[in-house]
Amino acid sequence: MLEVRNLTKTFGGGRALFGGRRHMVTAVDRVSLALRPGETLAVVGESGSGKSTLARMLVGLEKPTAGEMMIAGRDADELRRQGPRAFGKIVQYVFQDPVASLNPRKTIGEILETPLRQLNRYDAEERRARMTELLDAVRMPADTLSRYPHEFSGGQAQRIAIARSLAAEAQILILDEPVSALDVSVQAQVLLLLQELKQSFGLSYLFISHDLAVVEAVSDRVAVMRSGRLVEEAPVDALFSNPQDPYTRQLISSAP
Ligand code: ATP
Ligand code: MG
Repeated sequence: MLEVRNLTKTFGGGRALFGGRRHMVTAVDRVSLALRPGETLAVVGESGSGKSTLARMLVGLEKPTAGEMMIAGRDADELRRQGPRAFGKIVQYVFQDPVASLNPRKTIGEILETPLRQLNRYDAEERRARMTELLDAVRMPADTLSRYPHEFSGGQAQRIAIARSLAAEAQILILDEPVSALDVSVQAQVLLLLQELKQSFGLSYLFISHDLAVVEAVSDRVAVMRSGRLVEEAPVDALFSNPQDPYTRQLISSAP
């Protein structure tokens, strides 16, 4: 369970280089929502509406300006005090651009081993076995381990990035436009894989997407953001059949 209340993030302000105050942007403005165990909550909204900023706060990459955040019953401030890895054990972030999210100087084996090592639970042999299992779960061959990120296509790299998130054994995945950078032909495969993994690993997803057709197909509930505010949140069927907010109506009617 992940729950935020009045979560707010403001960028800018302070002294500008040539005097005066810098322009301020409230990227996320008093957002309250909850992600329940096992569900997929989609977050939709146009470019710049604050979706990624919200996501980055949820994984501890960005510190909220105000508001509360509870993750798996623990306060975010408490997690932050435990160190940079405390978030990663509970919630993982899958980025839009898979190739950029994988360190080009490391082999896939090294990339997958890092989170397994951080769990302090497995010896070298167990880590090796676990890595093979994870690759298998994302439909990648075992020889992937000795190769480098640039040797893979976007779809394959995203599978590897997903395997890395699974290696951390977090129960919550924040998927930030996880297929938008991929060829249309592989988007469906990766989405299908995510659906499968959700069942087999018992995950919850916060699924950020521009693609309303995909959102309608994969989510349980949908939250609509506009200029940092949450304008509407509803079960997926209700949102698409009977949108309450004028902005949601506009978004749905303008979808291709
Ligand atoms: P997209 O769909 O294009 O990915 P988004 O909904 O993810 O957009 P965000 O990236 O969260 O939007 O950005 C929300 C607002 O916050 C934008 O106005 C953006 O310019 C601003 N913003 C985001 N990160 C920063 C930052 N580090 N410094 C200053 N402004 C920022
Ligand atoms: Mg974004």
